[in-house]
Amino acid sequence: MAKIILLGAPGCGKGTVAGRLVDELHIPAISTGDIFRKNLSENTPLGLKAKGYMEKGELVPDGLVIDLVADRLGEDDAKDGYLLDGFPRTIPQAEALDGILAKGGAGIDKVFYINVPRDVLISRIAGRRVCDSCGKTYHVTNFPPRAEGTCDVCGSGLIQRKDDNEDTAANRIDVYERDTAPLADYYRKTGLLVELDGTAGPDALKEAMLRELS
Ligand code: AMP
Repeated sequence: MAKIILLGAPGCGKGTVAGRLVDELHIPAISTGDIFRKNLSENTPLGLKAKGYMEKGELVPDGLVIDLVADRLGEDDAKDGYLLDGFPRTIPQAEALDGILAKGGAGIDKVFYINVPRDVLISRIAGRRVCDSCGKTYHVTNFPPRAEGTCDVCGSGLIQRKDDNEDTAANRIDVYERDTAPLADYYRKTGLLVELDGTAGPDALKEAMLRELS
């Protein structure tokens, strides 16, 4: 059973490849962004604390994120493996994760770093549409649904995430370059880092990851 971290800028395809990989590996995908969005839509205290940061494309403070990941990794389905999507996002988060794992025993098997040029990221983010109900992701030109505005899987309406407009997307990429990109060096030193070309598309990425894990 694998313990995997996916690193990459917003729009690099992390969420899509994460879904395909966990289907194959039978491990849970743990996306901190999804957890925050769920809390936001349910107006929980955590969601309300995260709201302002998310809408501006800023990172939610480390303390809030670390506690929620520590709780999530303690759940039964994460005992033998998981894929972390969107965490860690800062050096203090990576250090906290090392602390959480040291307590629980076994560490991370692989850290996949997905590279995509900035102009491609912006156009992917601005064209992204998400099912309001099941969360499936589409793109207006690269991966449109069969019927415009409607999810192929569950028939619900598609929405654009509030933080997927061009201005917020540009800020999220800046924040990524400042706070998250340094994690590549952090994990390169551990020998766990594998860099992959994110323009290859989700299936090619998934196959490359499976080869690295085998
Ligand atoms: P994502 O879906 O991963 O792009 O995350 C959406 C937003 O949730 C980010 O822009 C942040 O505001 C917040 N967020 C998600 N994960 C983290 C994290 N590990 N640390 C801080 N903020 C996060």
